[in-house]
Amino acid sequence: MTEPAASQAQTNSGEIIDRVCPQCGSASFGRSKNYSKDTWRVGDCGECGFTFLQNVPVYDRLIDEFAWEKSRPAETARRYKERPVTARLSMAFRRARKPFRASEQDLFTRLFKPGPVLDVGCGNGERIPEVFTPYGIELSKQLCENANGRMKPRGGHVVHAPAVEGIGEFDPNFFTGIILRSFLEHEWQPKELLEGAHKVLRDDGALFIRVPNFASYNRKVRGPLWCGFRYPDHVNYFTPDSLSRMAADCGFGMQLLNPVKISIDDNIKAVLTKAQPS
Ligand SMILES: [Zn+2]
Repeated sequence: MTEPAASQAQTNSGEIIDRVCPQCGSASFGRSKNYSKDTWRVGDCGECGFTFLQNVPVYDRLIDEFAWEKSRPAETARRYKERPVTARLSMAFRRARKPFRASEQDLFTRLFKPGPVLDVGCGNGERIPEVFTPYGIELSKQLCENANGRMKPRGGHVVHAPAVEGIGEFDPNFFTGIILRSFLEHEWQPKELLEGAHKVLRDDGALFIRVPNFASYNRKVRGPLWCGFRYPDHVNYFTPDSLSRMAADCGFGMQLLNPVKISIDDNIKAVLTKAQPS
């Protein structure tokens, strides 16, 4: 079913914004019965096929009601209630993986040249390895304060703002590395954010990105029960193809970090670098 989307600026109830396709700007939207939930409309763009949440909460409301540190406990409780066995298994799996988190820090150290590194949606500000000067953008006031406590003594700082606005506060060609870890799926203006990242990244810099993989085998099998659905926190549902297309539109080349097992991986992990003008 295709129904017209309202323009980007139009709001319902003053707090929810109806989006056009964040990839191509088309207003043609086919709502998916399977993947929409309650009032939240998930579906595909009628032009380019990009999957997204059409009606998204605006920032003030995100801060008040849907901030990650608030929605996470509620989401965990809901999962335990609806699927106690798989929720416990997945929690146990995550705990077992904790020691391997260090390997992500190793990865950043390998990917980025020494210098200033920006973590978008930096949370408590613990992600950037010691060798870099850490900068962050964080929407939650409390997390921003926590992160500033860690980053300021290391020479960087955290901007308290929505990501697209916050990234505009940094100088062009400033960062040697940018981290978008589990962030772009939350951003209602993903293309604007990638364009902003392109401006502030050095020509020889690299951007690490990790988002849920809508093309994963698990999503195809589990359908609406797939772990990547989170309402209304996740507003973009990327596949390796759609992520690569959006990256290219913003001037980036994309390389997958998990190409071999991508079809069975619930996450896409990739590195974006500035495409050389031909
Ligand atoms: Zn589209």
